[in-house]
Amino acid sequence: MKVVVLGCGGSAGVPMVGGEDGGGDWGDCDPSEPRNRRTRSSILLQMDNGEAVLIDTGPDLRAQLLAQRISRFQSIIYTHGHSDHVDGINEVRAVNRVIGQPIKAYGTAEVLAEIEQRFSFVFKPWKPPGFFRAVLEAHPFEIGKETAIGSYAFTFIEQQHGYAGSSGVRCGNFAYSTDVVELSEQSLNVLEGVDTWIVDCFQLTPHVAHAWLDRVMEWRERIKPRRTILTHMGVAMDWASLCAILPDGVEPAYDGLSIDLPDPPRANNQQVA
Ligand SMILES: [Zn+2]
Ligand SMILES: [Zn+2]
Repeated sequence: MKVVVLGCGGSAGVPMVGGEDGGGDWGDCDPSEPRNRRTRSSILLQMDNGEAVLIDTGPDLRAQLLAQRISRFQSIIYTHGHSDHVDGINEVRAVNRVIGQPIKAYGTAEVLAEIEQRFSFVFKPWKPPGFFRAVLEAHPFEIGKETAIGSYAFTFIEQQHGYAGSSGVRCGNFAYSTDVVELSEQSLNVLEGVDTWIVDCFQLTPHVAHAWLDRVMEWRERIKPRRTILTHMGVAMDWASLCAILPDGVEPAYDGLSIDLPDPPRANNQQVA
């Protein structure tokens, strides 16, 4: 499979709206480094059999799909209901039109209910043939229980995200842990053995809702991934400065980063422990 980072920015993106001349608040980020320009956090898993799974539909979704030349996916996983992970949901209509089908939306029952409350029309039954709005089908998952999405097996991980909760995603030896500040022993156990890990690292200093660099390093000691990739980065996270201080095996993401990995296990191919 191929993992494509569509966006790796914090909830306000980089740059944030503002700045002295209104051209953007870059914080500590060098505006001349293209890898510092970050849209809201989202990834796409492109499987070897042609299926694709999007994780989150942030407000930058349309531009992200165009930038990465993506027009097809069959499923979306929602990590949680925050606006920077949901508010591009209407842009899914364009993908409905390309594939000619509703799109399956996976999340905890609580998150799907929250999305339905805000965007009730997206879950109404599809009236073929046209798509005059985004059309999604709700598929609740249970944390910790293996779930088939398309042909592949996924596991969801409980995460603490300040005043909210969120779901981490494990698929084969890849895991995506965005919007997380605390991980229980049980959740760390599920992440053990992961080879490539994309993880929230909003800033360098402690934060109430997001992991910071020292916390990520503590988790990394425990999980021991071969490759750790930082995401959901705010304006304190300058790309070149990070590259200079991070140890081998840890790197900042950038929008458009693409990672080739072995195809994950098929859902109906359960391995005996
Ligand atoms: Zn977020
Ligand atoms: Zn969040």
